Amino acid sequence: MSRHFGGVRAVDGLDLTVRRGEILGLIGPNGSGKSTTVNLVAGLYQPSAGTLRFDGRDIGTLPPHRRAELGIARTFQNIRLFSQLSVWQNVWAARVVRERGWDGFRARWLAGAARAREEIEQLLAFSGLAHKRDQLAGNLAFGEQRRLELARAAASGAPLLLLDEPAAGMNAEEIDELDERIRRLREQGRTILLIEHHMELVMGVCDRVAVLNFGRKIAEGTPAQVQDDPQVRAAYLGS
Ligand code: ADP
Ligand code: MG
Repeated sequence: MSRHFGGVRAVDGLDLTVRRGEILGLIGPNGSGKSTTVNLVAGLYQPSAGTLRFDGRDIGTLPPHRRAELGIARTFQNIRLFSQLSVWQNVWAARVVRERGWDGFRARWLAGAARAREEIEQLLAFSGLAHKRDQLAGNLAFGEQRRLELARAAASGAPLLLLDEPAAGMNAEEIDELDERIRRLREQGRTILLIEHHMELVMGVCDRVAVLNFGRKIAEGTPAQVQDDPQVRAAYLGS
């Protein structure tokens, strides 16, 4: 798959497969095409060339909301929340995406709403945000906003989560907690594409890692294999 912006080959003939149930790390120097890859999968950008399949289905031309319905959720490198809604409302808004197709029977609706509330409670606890439920998202501390973004992605119920630098700006303790949360999401059966600069997190939590440089994949393998790869070392040392 490729995406060019004018003369810039942001993603250049990338062949990448995320296997069901795995955590695949996607790393590379700044400007190597990681966020563009996330935007191509989520549907914010259309590929200049190539195909994109999800669950065997060609999704390359679908708009972002259709891909979300099919089961692709994401977080943004630059946090995007409903800043004028409360923490609870932010999670709720992501959760209701799943309820399309309800047939409108009152009893079923109420049962569904109760189940949704219970799930939101669990997610707020999971994210360490239960005590902040009524605060406006825009008033949260930075690390809390990052946690809320992850909670929203999880609340969508999507089997595939695209996490674009979720550890950026976090302190060591917050990164340890994030590591734990990512593992728990996988235990719940989620598949995760993790873009990260924080190498300890990537190498610790990922099953496999792919490395981009100038829009091309230069290595792919287990964390140990990738760390030993001379091309990867060169890309990071800039030599
Ligand atoms: P990364 O996330 O790995 O840091 P990006 O995918 O954000 O890299 O960017 C890859 C390259 O594509 C960069 O050279 C960047 O400037 C360029 N690029 C990304 N998005 C756009 C855009 N919307 N318009 C023009 N150039 C872009
Ligand atoms: Mg990026």
